[in-house]
Amino acid sequence: MSATGRAAVLRDFGQDFTVETFPRPRADAGGLVVEIETATVCGSDVHAWKGQLSLDVSLPMILGHEMAGRIVEIGDGADVDSVGQPLEIGDRVVWAHASCGRCHECTVEQTPVLCSNRYIGYLNDCSVPPHFTGTFAEYGVVRPDAGRVRIPDGVDSAWASAGSCALRTVVKALDLAGSVDRDDTVVVQGAGPLGLFATALLSLADPRRLVVVGGPQDRLDLAAEWGATHTVLVDPSADPAGRIDEVMSITGRGASVAFELAGAPGVVGEGVRMMARNGRYVVLGTLGGAPQPVDVATIVTRGLRVTGSMSGAIGDYHRAMLALDRYQDRFDWDRMLGSTYDLDTLGDAMEAMVAMTEIKPIVRPAGR
Ligand SMILES: [Zn+2]
Ligand SMILES: [Zn+2]
Repeated sequence: MSATGRAAVLRDFGQDFTVETFPRPRADAGGLVVEIETATVCGSDVHAWKGQLSLDVSLPMILGHEMAGRIVEIGDGADVDSVGQPLEIGDRVVWAHASCGRCHECTVEQTPVLCSNRYIGYLNDCSVPPHFTGTFAEYGVVRPDAGRVRIPDGVDSAWASAGSCALRTVVKALDLAGSVDRDDTVVVQGAGPLGLFATALLSLADPRRLVVVGGPQDRLDLAAEWGATHTVLVDPSADPAGRIDEVMSITGRGASVAFELAGAPGVVGEGVRMMARNGRYVVLGTLGGAPQPVDVATIVTRGLRVTGSMSGAIGDYHRAMLALDRYQDRFDWDRMLGSTYDLDTLGDAMEAMVAMTEIKPIVRPAGR
């Protein structure tokens, strides 16, 4: 094992990355050090790269928060993961942002994902030890206060990486929405990684209608393969009234359950107008951008339940890994993944995301 490791560092928003070398991190008691085997690019990385994330960030940064890491050092007492599975050197893990365990949200509300002292690695200054804050790097640090779970043997590292953000977020949102059954008319806004994972898992409940509203067309085709009964192509320049009418005619009375997974301007105002009376609407794709208008009277008069959902707890990561394993013959998870990049070509992966030519690029920091 080398005494140093490389990382793709962002020094100025929107600029290309510089590959820099830092001393290899050491595991704290209760923590782990991993080699990042595979990372994947998330929309949040792209927003952070452009300086458009509505969260506090400190340059210079190492972006990346989706990963599969192979354990190279186990700190004292860290030989078991967060769900009771033993961990050994060489095992692969995914891990969560760290929560403090001693704030109102952590303890009274039992929602550590809303911890007011939450530590989100990649948003921090990487010039200070342990340096390896993001996952577009050869090493990763699992802090003592971060949940972690072992990746099942049957789960490919790139699937696990995608599952460590997009799928765990979907797992939690589906939980918040409550049960979906065969009488439901479900609308998924967005056909990116969140929308596609949601479509796959929602299709298992066999709802009467499962409508995916998004684009481009190749993503809608994949959504149809993964269980969407109908798809509606979004033309961003078109009047949203057209697609709202289309959803109303497909569903009959609107969506009984809907998920906002698009993060596009105006998407929530549009989603509200697609809802049936008594509908349940979970909003999670919008993490920034300009405020958007929503017709509040529609929420009131249709009796909608609108819920925000953020990220996922470590149990959601575990359930995401189990779903990837269990349903791998039903859904070809590789279909979501893009080309493979290394630290030197990370900028190209970002550009592919912006151009929407790839759904989820893969980054192998060690170049293999
Ligand atoms: Zn993410
Ligand atoms: Zn807390």
